[in-house]
Amino acid sequence: MTRKEQLANVRRILVKVGSAVLTGEDGLDLNIIEQLVGDIAALRERGCQVVLVSSGAIASGKHRMGIECKLKSIPQKQAAAAVGQGRLMRVYSNAFGKHGLFVGQVLLTMSDITDRKRFLNIRNTLFTLLEWGVITIINENDTVAVDEIKFGDNDNLAAMVANICEAHLVINLTSTEGLYDRNPAESKKAKLIPLVVEITPEIEAAATEEATSVGMGGMKSKVQAAKKVTASGIPYIIAPGRRAGVLQEIMDGKETGTLFLPPAEHLNSRKYWIAFTLRSRGRLFIDDGAKEALIGDGKSLLPSGVTQVEGDFAPGDPVTCVDAAGNAIAKGLVNYSADEIRKIMGLKSSRIEQVLGYKDYDEVIHRDNLAVTALQGGKPTT
Ligand code: GLU
Repeated sequence: MTRKEQLANVRRILVKVGSAVLTGEDGLDLNIIEQLVGDIAALRERGCQVVLVSSGAIASGKHRMGIECKLKSIPQKQAAAAVGQGRLMRVYSNAFGKHGLFVGQVLLTMSDITDRKRFLNIRNTLFTLLEWGVITIINENDTVAVDEIKFGDNDNLAAMVANICEAHLVINLTSTEGLYDRNPAESKKAKLIPLVVEITPEIEAAATEEATSVGMGGMKSKVQAAKKVTASGIPYIIAPGRRAGVLQEIMDGKETGTLFLPPAEHLNSRKYWIAFTLRSRGRLFIDDGAKEALIGDGKSLLPSGVTQVEGDFAPGDPVTCVDAAGNAIAKGLVNYSADEIRKIMGLKSSRIEQVLGYKDYDEVIHRDNLAVTALQGGKPTT
């Protein structure tokens, strides 16, 4: 299938752009921003909806304050973001205004979307903004985000937002051409990989850890994000953000950057939320029979398949299911607490009542609340 055919039904595009693309020696690079905004406006002209996840707040704020050294403390980064985010939005607002487009700002932290109700509220807001034709610009709410509630980097934030707004395609605009088979900074032989059909351990190994001096995530975090995004059935492209007309090129079907295709089977939106948004509270080791039932047959997890319980969790909590070797297979919301599962593991469901004195459910995790992440090939992400 050609690129053009692969992207034929794409109407809603999530564009993520990193600080390394948006900033130069003098803080925000206004020419690049004008260029990007023109490219997005042209996408709108061809009938596409665009949601933009943009970094650049911290880098811009730091420059504004005339700080040349690396920001070390969290409060310094948060203060820089407070200065820079307003400026970033003003620049975007002016640039999009020239094309007759309005912008809206949405700042998120991870804790905003781990709560299902808030997740759905954000979703409603994003859909209304799309309906209004507003260009929504999303960033992490850096001024309040500390480690425990952080997305970590905007690659991950964009992966979460792609699920919330049901994007048809994610384009991650970076300071490189795409994913190379080895680090291009270290080897002249490095070759660009135009297409990734499955994220294998080799593909993961090709992505290096290093981030640029201004951005948070390196290529590794982009590939991790690709893994999540494709797991929900959305294709993902890593492309050169500074190239003029790069978004048009992609939508014209040119072989630009690296395209990651989604696997044949993927997670629906709620299961994606369970798999990638919720922080796991413990681990359930499962036997080979249960592993096969979960992966192969899409079945629920029964007490008979559990061999060991790790952690302390309550009914409704997210828990990771791992095989005997400790590989993550699935994540789901448990019907019983850790202590209860310790008592009923290895037993048939018909014995639950006898052991616990009550039985609310036959399953430890019902299939509707179970996201099988081992489906995505390579090493599971959870
Ligand atoms: N949210 C940060 C900013 O706007 C950037 C995070 C990242 O580069 O991934 O400055």
